[in-house]
Amino acid sequence: MTDPLALPASRILVVAPHPDDESLGCGGVIAMLRGDGRTVKVVFVTDGGASHTGSRHWPRWRLAARRREEALAALECLGVPARDAHFLDLADADMPPAGSPLDLGAVDTLTRLMAGFKPDLVLMPWRRDPHCDHRDAWRLTHDALSRTERQVLTLEYAVWLDEIGAPADHPGKDEAERIVFDITPAVDAKRLAVAAHVSQTSDLIHDDPAGFRLKPETIDRLCRPFEIYWRPRS
Ligand SMILES: [Zn+2]
Repeated sequence: MTDPLALPASRILVVAPHPDDESLGCGGVIAMLRGDGRTVKVVFVTDGGASHTGSRHWPRWRLAARRREEALAALECLGVPARDAHFLDLADADMPPAGSPLDLGAVDTLTRLMAGFKPDLVLMPWRRDPHCDHRDAWRLTHDALSRTERQVLTLEYAVWLDEIGAPADHPGKDEAERIVFDITPAVDAKRLAVAAHVSQTSDLIHDDPAGFRLKPETIDRLCRPFEIYWRPRS
C-alpha cells in the first residue's frame, strides 16, 4: 500500500459529484494531506437536493441548503476550512447536457478555479462510476482539465463501482493503474466526516421512506483503512 503523504502534490483539488462523495471516496487521503499541511480545495458539483424527492418537509431548496451545511461540517472533520469549499450548485440527478449553456458555464467556473488555484493533483470521480452525476462530473472535470495547458496528475475514485457496477464499468487492464492508499491514521476522521452528512445517514428526513439512505454496509465498505484510486494510463 502507498502512503498518501508520498504524493508529489501540495495543492489538491477534489471534485465531488454530491455532498458526501468527498468523504466516502477521498476522506482518508484528504485528512492525511491536510494533517501534513497541504492545501485541499473541494468542488461540490451538484446541490444534493434530489435525495428525498417524496418529502413534504424537505423540499428541494431546503434540502440543498441543509446538504451544503453538512458538506462544510464534513470538511471540518477532515481539516478543510470552509473557504476551500466551492459549490457549483448544479441540479442533483439532473445535470445539464454536455455543451448546453449551463454546462459550459460550469466548465468555465471550474476552469477559472483551476487557473487560480493551480492544483498539482486532481481527485475526480471514476469515469464509469455507475451513477449519472458521477459520470457527468467526471466529464465536466475532464473538459475543464482539457482547457488547461499545465500537466496535472489525476486520480479517479469510485463510490458505487464495487456495489452496483457492471463488468464493463470497471477499469480495463491497460486502461488505468490501481493505487491503494493506506489511510489507517485517518479512518476515524473519515467516519466522522461521513456521519456529518446527517440527511443521508439517519432518519432526519422522516416523511419519505423511499428517500435515499446510505446503507451501513456501504459506509463500512468505504471506511476501510485504505482508499483505492485509478490513475489513467493515457
Ligand atoms: Zn454521489
